[in-house]
Amino acid sequence: MVKVKNLNNTSDKQPKGYDTWLEFWEGKTGKTADHCGATDCTVKGRDNLVGAHVKKVGANDDSHYITPLCRGCNQRTDEFYVDTELVHAESR
Ligand SMILES: [Zn+2]
Repeated sequence: MVKVKNLNNTSDKQPKGYDTWLEFWEGKTGKTADHCGATDCTVKGRDNLVGAHVKKVGANDDSHYITPLCRGCNQRTDEFYVDTELVHAESR
């Protein structure tokens, strides 16, 4: 599990090669997003998810990553753990 924090002001960023950030995550991982990555959240179902921009907490790493979160968790301002893969964000 990785501790992450949401990044703000990312709505203007468009994924390179994909229509949505959720499709970007699925394309890069080869998986279908089916649950919110936050380990303390129980939301399931692809329709409830977005490809969220996050950064790692406590790591010497300022990279932007994409991981599936529900819309509620995409608004969180705290730090939380995710059990889903983090994929390097590539904007066009
Ligand atoms: Zn959630």
